[in-house]
Amino acid sequence: THFGYKTVDKKQKASMVADVFHSVAAKYDVMNDLMSMGIHRLWKRFTIDCSGVRRGQTVLDLAGGTGDLTAKFSRMVGPEGKVILADINNAMLKVGRDKLRDNGIVGNVDYVQANAEELPFPDNSIDVITIAFGLRNVTDKDKALHSMYRVLKPGGRLLVLEFSKPVHEGLNKVYDVYSFHILPKMGQLVAGDADSYQYLAESIRMHPDQETLKNMMEQAGFEQTSYHNLTGGIVALHRGFKF
Ligand code: SAM
Repeated sequence: THFGYKTVDKKQKASMVADVFHSVAAKYDVMNDLMSMGIHRLWKRFTIDCSGVRRGQTVLDLAGGTGDLTAKFSRMVGPEGKVILADINNAMLKVGRDKLRDNGIVGNVDYVQANAEELPFPDNSIDVITIAFGLRNVTDKDKALHSMYRVLKPGGRLLVLEFSKPVHEGLNKVYDVYSFHILPKMGQLVAGDADSYQYLAESIRMHPDQETLKNMMEQAGFEQTSYHNLTGGIVALHRGFKF
């Protein structure tokens, strides 16, 4: 592939992912709106509606980037609750922190630079974990899922919002053209960075499909796992519980 993605070792992949998000951080929000034609907002809205988050709870927005979900959760948990915006990349975290503070979201949000594979939180300490468009960037996804399982409280839930496999072959083809030809050009035009958006297209293609991810969650210990396809399976929301 373009990045020699299949042949690189784990350390190389992690540093490539770091480069990509350092490079896109400043333009991340505007690119998100452009690339998804605003639809990412609906996908995130659906995730929030399925989160079951209540006042006073502790929520982890993992790979939270510029904090779209954190902003909503902060209001839902109220002053007696807490949202942890965790991301491996300090450039993304900084953009997120500045944006949330500019919007008056302060007091119940913690910002933590952390790798999803080794979460620096106590066992059984978090009510709800979301990871939106983050898991596909993680080098060792099984390790990350185990780590999420460990920090969740019994009764807690994990929501994984991620690109997945379109359910119709026709849509699959259109989507391929879009992601491999149009996306990198848009990246070049708007962010001056075709490579990062080429990486994005490739990482989407290589991410486990709906059933595979569901199985991976079960392997990590999650129960009552299910998924819901959004926009014809371009994206799927997976859910699992720890009991
Ligand atoms: N959740 C945000 C959203 O939906 O807009 C940001 C998604 S962004 C596409 C992916 C994020 O995953 C980036 O901010 C990146 O730094 C982060 N990331 C990549 N690998 C990670 C890891 N191993 N642990 C934690 N975060 C990671």
